[in-house]
Amino acid sequence: MLDADFFHRWMIAAAGLVDRDAEHLTELDSAIGDADHGSNLRRGFAAVSAALAKEPPQTPGAVLSLAGRQLISTVGGASGPLYGTLLRRTGKALGGAPAVSRADLARALGEGVAAVSQLGGAQAGDKTMLDALLPAVDALGTSFAAGRDAARAGAEATVPLRARKGRASYLGERSVGHQDPGATSAALLIAALADTAETAGGEA
Ligand code: ADP
Ligand code: MG
Repeated sequence: MLDADFFHRWMIAAAGLVDRDAEHLTELDSAIGDADHGSNLRRGFAAVSAALAKEPPQTPGAVLSLAGRQLISTVGGASGPLYGTLLRRTGKALGGAPAVSRADLARALGEGVAAVSQLGGAQAGDKTMLDALLPAVDALGTSFAAGRDAARAGAEATVPLRARKGRASYLGERSVGHQDPGATSAALLIAALADTAETAGGEA
């Protein structure tokens, strides 16, 4: 079972991957956006790490809710409210349980992803973070590693797509041929989850 400590370590691992890849994320956003995605997320996940260190929440749901609130208040742009909603809604779906299974998490993340789609109006194939998150949720039913692979493949599959939501959609056809920055960062979030599960020693 996955406890609050596991979720805490997931968020720290996500902060580490975002920090490592921030320049790459910003480069991707400079091609089809406004070159701020890496710096936005780096600021947000640094705030998440600081908030979790200050007062570590006692349940998985509370860890994700706190992280989501921090992202909403510090990231800005389109991705702040969307990632914030993802984590808050996933946390809410986990409720007050002291520990949850991988299947519980996959279900809850499915609710979080649905909330992102509702908030931003995007669907699969619109060249957004959803193109990594939707396949990841499905694959997490199988294993954490399958989730990581599906998210990465989903992010890579945004290259030939034309953006239909967000700032990149203003480019129309010119958005084709570039990987979506938000799908790329979403794949990092899922990679951090799988890394954490592997460090924890086995599947939940
Ligand atoms: P901004 O576009 O405001 O500068 P960011 O650069 O931080 O915000 O984030 C851009 C990413 O946000 C995009 O690559 C895309 O994945 C995601 N995004 C933008 N709009 C939407 C939306 N309506 N639904 C889902 N994801 C979106
Ligand atoms: Mg941007």
